[in-house]
Order: sequence, then structure tokens, then C-alpha cells
Amino acid sequence: MLHIQNFIAGAFTEGAGGKNFEKRSPLTNAVIATVAEAAKADVDAAVAAGRAALKGPWGKLTLADRVDLLNAVAAEMDRRAEDFIAAEIADTGMPAGVAKHMCARGAANFRVFADVVKNVPTEFFEMATPDGRGALNYSIRRPVGVVGVICPWNAPLLLMTWKVGPALACGNAVVVKPSEETPQTAALLGEVMNAVGVPAGVYNVVHGFGPGSAGEYLATHPRIGAITFTGETRTGAAIMKAAADGARPVSLEMGGKNPGIIFADADLDAAIEGTLRSCFMNTGQVCLGTERVFVERAFFDKFVAALKTAAENMRVGPPHEPGVSMGPLISQEHRRKVLSYYAKAVEEGATVVAGGGVPEMPGDYAGGAWVQPTVWAGLPDDAAVCREEIFGPCCHVSPFDTEDEVIERANSLDYGLSAAIWTRDLARAHRVAAAVEAGVVWVNSWFLRDLRTPFGGAKQSGIGREGGVHSLEFYTELKNVCVKL
Ligand code: NAD
Repeated sequence: MLHIQNFIAGAFTEGAGGKNFEKRSPLTNAVIATVAEAAKADVDAAVAAGRAALKGPWGKLTLADRVDLLNAVAAEMDRRAEDFIAAEIADTGMPAGVAKHMCARGAANFRVFADVVKNVPTEFFEMATPDGRGALNYSIRRPVGVVGVICPWNAPLLLMTWKVGPALACGNAVVVKPSEETPQTAALLGEVMNAVGVPAGVYNVVHGFGPGSAGEYLATHPRIGAITFTGETRTGAAIMKAAADGARPVSLEMGGKNPGIIFADADLDAAIEGTLRSCFMNTGQVCLGTERVFVERAFFDKFVAALKTAAENMRVGPPHEPGVSMGPLISQEHRRKVLSYYAKAVEEGATVVAGGGVPEMPGDYAGGAWVQPTVWAGLPDDAAVCREEIFGPCCHVSPFDTEDEVIERANSLDYGLSAAIWTRDLARAHRVAAAVEAGVVWVNSWFLRDLRTPFGGAKQSGIGREGGVHSLEFYTELKNVCVKL
């Protein structure tokens, strides 16, 4: 059986406490790996290794050499793409095509931030002084130290490298705590780091859980320079509290309950295709996905009928089967949560437009975390399935009459991660995009991502922005140097 270890100071290690935990397949629920759980002593060792690397070879590298190393990491990830894809599929059960896309983004996260740091300009100010000789001010960026990176399970490699790429590009060291559900690709990245000669201690991985385990030890560690987190809003709040002791900066990318807004003048086929993807891609386990769909009344029946057909035509199945567009949920635990919302929707009086249950799966797959793609209609906005993040392949569709009304309804929750607007009216598209309370807004598209753009959530969906030069604000200390002439 596969055994996954921590990666500390360039070496794969067992947990100091000698404890392991099991990783189960989302496809069958069979145990597929054991994972060495990091004890507090391992987290201490990982942070110490990061600090030593900063004082040693990593801290002494020139920017050009660091950029070369990051590009080498990306190239080695591409060379080992099949290994990464296989590991991601084993951990998550996602369709092969989705895993391929996510792993390619993993390598891109190193390339893009290598380019960003290479090209970032600096501020410069000449100032007058009483003696007439003047002074020059310029700013330089310095690493913040060892960054704690706490990751979720829904796009493990993509989301982890989205943090590790810029953190290393800025010259920091990292200690990564992958989700307990998805330990494999973080470990593989350790092999890549060693293969291309990234100094020991720059990239460390500690496996385990949240409270009372590696997550908490990392978030509360006094020697961590900053903490970057992706996951649920309530976990983010706990991490923010932990970071307050020691006043460390946090960057939080958290939950959402994102609206899709479809006006009657939209291109129907494009709106259906985009909304379908935004509801069901990765089995609905995408933070940017749509769980609330608002459709202008004149278009509502037509849209719902088309969404029903499209949802019913989705093929749920194992990763390598041709034509499969949706895999299982991550775990039985998450499936219980999602199915509790399927039941709650019916209790609250929803019309089940499509799905609503569990598909029959053959053989060993019968034990997997499968659910049907599901569409509901007929509920008021204050129903639980219209307010709470479910993080499954489901959405509620409701009609609206005016632009003002739909903006108010879209903005009625405490979440504000993303929104998708579908219309052919350009002026309206700009108006609604500006009015919707969200960190990311798509018009006539969904999930188009340019990694140079700011990314993050409004309201309780996030604190801070990462992406492009915005990542530098978090991963560096900006220092002003004033030179008297
Ligand atoms: P989660 O909050 O349960 O766990 C995330 C990570 O935090 C895991 O590694 C977990 O072990 C760790 N953790 C849990 N409690 C902790 C604690 N007290 N201290 C330190 N670490 C702790 O989230 P999840 O279920 O893995 O991921 C799904 C959630 O992530 C959804 O809410 C989704 O919207 C969100 N998400 C947000 C974004 C974004 O960019 N905004 C992206 C992806 C996922």
C-alpha cells in the first residue's frame, strides 16, 4: 500500500509521534494509502528548516537564479505530468480531463510568478533637504520569512501551487499543510524540488488535520512570518484568531455562494453551457462555482428546461471512462453533508428539476461518494439551500423581473466570492458587474483566469488579494531606503 510521508528539510520523514492516518478513495471508499501524521515536533522542524534555508543558500541566491529554479520546477512538473495527474485522480476521483487541466495550472503557477517578480518595478523619489544636497528614496522588497500554507482538497495541486509559486518567487520558504483528504501531489512536489536542486528547507510539507494537529500547530507557530489559507469561511476565521497571537499577516480565500445572473437577451446556448459548467464542474466542488441561478422571467421556463436536459445528460462515472463529465464527491463525510441538503431542499418545498438523489454504480464503485447533478426551483431566497454553501453539484434556479431586484438578491448574503453575468447588453453588463458584491465577476463566461489579475473574495469570502503583482503585497515586506546625498 502507498505510504505518504512528510517532507522536511529535503527529506521524506515519518511523523515524530509515529502516527499514521488513512486516505480513502472517493471512487470506492477503499483505503488507498497511509499518511504519516506530523506531530508538533515535525512542524517545529519544518519551520526551522525554512528559517535555515532563508539564512543559507536560498537567501543568498540572486533573483535571476531564483527565477531559473522556479522555471525548472515548472519544467520538471510538466515532465512528470502523468505522475501528478495520476496522484490527483487517486486522491479526488476527478475526471482525467479535469485533472490534466488542474495539473497544467500547477506548473503555470511557478512560471507566471517567476515572470512577475522578474519584471516588477520599484518606487523612486528624489527629495529636497535643508542643506540643498537632497536625498534619494527607493523601495525594495524582502521576503516575509517562512510562510504557512494551509490548503483545501477541491483542487489540491492548483490551489497549493497558487500560494507556493508566488511565496517562493518572492524569496520565502514555505511549510505546506495539504488537506488530509489530498496528501499526494504535495508530496510529489517535494520530489520535484529535490530533482531540480531547490535547496533543502525551502519547501516543506506536514500532513495532518486542523484542530489539535498539523494545521493548528502551523497556524499558531510563533516563527511563521505569514499565513495563507484556502478553505471554509469558519476555518478561516479560526486561523485569523490564531494569527492574531503574534500579529502575523493572513491571506484568506474562503467560501462562496455565488450567483449566476442570466438576462433574457443572453445567448441561450452559451449561458446554459457556462452555467452548467459553473454548477457541476469538479462535482460542484469549485469555490467559484454557481449555486444560485437567477434568470429573467421571460427566459425562465426555456432556461430551466434546457438546464434540466443538460444536467440529465451529464455522465457520472470513473475518471478514465470515455464521456464521463462528473466524478464523485471527495469523501463519504462530504457526501453526507451534500445529501443532507438534497433532503432539506425537498423538506423546504423545492421542485426537483433534475437529479436529487444517488446514481447506481456498478461493482466496487457502489461504495464511492457519488451523487446526481441536481437542479431545484421554487424556493424563496431565505431557504437553506439558497443561503448556505453546499459545495456539491447542485443549484437553485429562480426568476427575477428587474435589474435592481436581481442585484439586491445577489448581494443579500454575507458571501462575495464571484458572480457570472450573461447578457448581450454591454452597458448593463458593466453596470451589474460594478454593483455585484464579489471579488471576481465574469461576463458571458465563467472560470476564465489570467493569473496576473487580482483574485480574492469580498465580504466573508476572503481577506486580501493574490495574483500577479498583488501577491507581492502579501509575500514581501516593502522597505524604503532613504539615502542622503
Ligand atoms: P476546510 O476549511 O475544512 O479545510 C481547509 C484546510 O484547513 C485543511 O487543510 C484543514 O485540515 C485545515 N484546517 C481545518 N481546521 C483548521 C484549524 N483550526 N487550524 C488550521 N488548519 C485547519 O476546507 P475544505 O473543506 O478543505 O475546502 C472546501 C472549502 O474551501 C469551501 O468552503 C470552498 O469554498 C473553499 N475554497 C475557497 C477557495 C477560494 O479561493 N476562495 C478556493 C477553494 C476552496
